Amino acid sequence: MNVDDFPVDANALCDICHVFGERGWCRATSGNFSIRVDKSHCIITQSGCDKSRLASDQLMICDLDGRAIHPDQRPSAETPLHTCLYRLDNSIGSVLHTHSVSSTLLSMHSGPQLTINGFEMQKALAGITSHERSAVVPVFDNNQDMRALAEEVTAAWKDGDISVPGFLIAGHGLYAWGKNSTEALRHTEGFEFLFECLWQQTLAKLS
Ligand SMILES: [Zn+2]
Repeated sequence: MNVDDFPVDANALCDICHVFGERGWCRATSGNFSIRVDKSHCIITQSGCDKSRLASDQLMICDLDGRAIHPDQRPSAETPLHTCLYRLDNSIGSVLHTHSVSSTLLSMHSGPQLTINGFEMQKALAGITSHERSAVVPVFDNNQDMRALAEEVTAAWKDGDISVPGFLIAGHGLYAWGKNSTEALRHTEGFEFLFECLWQQTLAKLS
């Protein structure tokens, strides 16, 4: 089994990475991106590659414990966060992780959760049908131990504390997901738009 067995998914993921690269959401080899390929595997970006110029041969397959199918390949360091989401919900088909300027800064000024109200763009998020319904985004403390961070996310999920298709890591960035890469892309773009609005509002209050 290799990435070439899934050419459509690989190309979709490369296209998303290129778009995010143009927007400055995955600078300096940051960010990581994945698509589920079956019940127990996903395609994910390899560690250390420039996502803005990602080629399909820089993708790899790992199981949902984060083990590479080909032992000479090294998955992204943050693979445990992708695989924990796939394990938690069989309907998740793609996970996208960005490091935008606005999500990084906003997450450092928002406390353990960020409540978003009043924006039409909230309707980009599955399950939200009105600007009048709050979107509450969990914010986890950053941690270089990705397995520990994945355990925190898993506990929050099981406690029902993750009600939108995404969360922030403070000073780090956004994780968003969807039933497929198209929906995960829409969620990421919606969140990033909302974070940019909120960061500009925060800046105005700080000045
Ligand atoms: Zn990251």
